Amino acid sequence: MAARNANPVAIAGGGIGGLACALALARQGFRSLVLEQAREFGEAGVGLQVAPNALSVLDALGVGHAAKKNALLIERLLMMDAVTGEEIANIPLDARFVRRFGNPYAVSHRADIHGALLDACRANELIDLRTDSHVSDFKFEPPGVTVFLASGTPIAAPALIGADGVYSNVRKRIVADGDPPSAGAVIFRATIPAAEMPKDLQHPYPTFWAGPGWHAIYYPVRDWSLFNLGCTLATDKLEYGDGADVSPLQVLPKFTGGCETPLRAMQIPKAFRHYVIRHREPVENWTLGPATLIGDAAHPMVQYIAQGAAMALEDAICLASAMHEADGEFSSAFRRYQALRIVRTARVQISSLMMDRINHARGIERKVRNSLFEGRTAEDYYDRLAWLYTPPPYVR
Ligand SMILES: Cc1cc2nc3c(=O)[nH]c(=O)nc-3n(C[C@H](O)[C@H](O)[C@H](O)COP(=O)(O)OP(=O)(O)OC[C@H]3O[C@@H](n4cnc5c(N)ncnc54)[C@H](O)[C@@H]3O)c2cc1C
Repeated sequence: MAARNANPVAIAGGGIGGLACALALARQGFRSLVLEQAREFGEAGVGLQVAPNALSVLDALGVGHAAKKNALLIERLLMMDAVTGEEIANIPLDARFVRRFGNPYAVSHRADIHGALLDACRANELIDLRTDSHVSDFKFEPPGVTVFLASGTPIAAPALIGADGVYSNVRKRIVADGDPPSAGAVIFRATIPAAEMPKDLQHPYPTFWAGPGWHAIYYPVRDWSLFNLGCTLATDKLEYGDGADVSPLQVLPKFTGGCETPLRAMQIPKAFRHYVIRHREPVENWTLGPATLIGDAAHPMVQYIAQGAAMALEDAICLASAMHEADGEFSSAFRRYQALRIVRTARVQISSLMMDRINHARGIERKVRNSLFEGRTAEDYYDRLAWLYTPPPYVR
């Protein structure tokens, strides 16, 4: 296919957002250059919940089948009270759910989603993928930009898309709002080989335990060979760095007040990996001329409704469709993309953070929380979730 742009658009970052953007642009006939800082393309972390709105984007990008191949299509979302062991909420994800939202709900290994996008990017002649390319800064050089790599190499491009995650360097020049603050929570992540997971805890869906000041979630990935475990603690104390290995002796005493069942899972890993949960308040602008942001660079959020990657995917396809409509006029396409995306992504950021109170309730608030979900039918849940799981019109 002949490209609609002679010089490639630069995309900083080759995570799920950056690769999806390159692919979406290529499907509209636009050439791009993905600049990834790592030595190899890949994803940190293991588990990813892939809601129907995210699967619809993957379908639209032509990688839905590959992405779903190793994913587990889950049968329910379950929220348990970690204090009493009772069920709080149980959302069936059966045929009614698929009919309503056009796709099932999946849990996947992150590498399987990222890998499906990467394979498709590698096979597309309009996409140039470069590793070892840390984007340190850029400047406007009308009508385009010059992107600077840490090595000092300048790259001239007609436009720049910052898909460089929560610590985005591209954002520093566009929004200039400093480092992302802690969301008042840290997560200890681990994997559990299926052979070590007690049989009565092995369910074909994520089990979410809401504890007093903490929550934990586990679910199977990769053909049930592994269970992904994430234990989130509400705290302002930052004791360890990102990626630090922390022993169970240091982790487990922090998760108090829970019943025996979630603790049985949490006692299995020999080590946990620690990360600070970061977020930002939504901003009113993330675009400047021929430079814009997508994914966590634009709207980082806490993971409490499992939508960060989904929003990055939706951004990618929306941006490419705006590029198509503006016939490659980057600045107006980026303004249009932002106008289409900013309220939805801000709502997801705010809604995610509001779940902090639900997930970590204690005392009387815990009882109020549990009462909120009493008697809800599948349709009640679907109606409440429709704004989120229904793919927006540009996801085609
Ligand atoms: C614990 C946890 C659980 C989560 N669970 C879910 C979930 O279940 N479902 C869901 O949808 N979302 C989930 N999320 C959110 C999701 O992981 C992110 O929103 C998503 O990965 C964002 O994708 P991205 O491409 O914007 O950024 P990233 O995934 O951060 O990718 C950024 C890429 O850019 C590269 N990069 C960074 N800086 C530079 C630079 N200066 N130059 C060049 N390259 C650079 C990085 O190496 C990386 O490859 C979770 C997040 C956390 C923390």
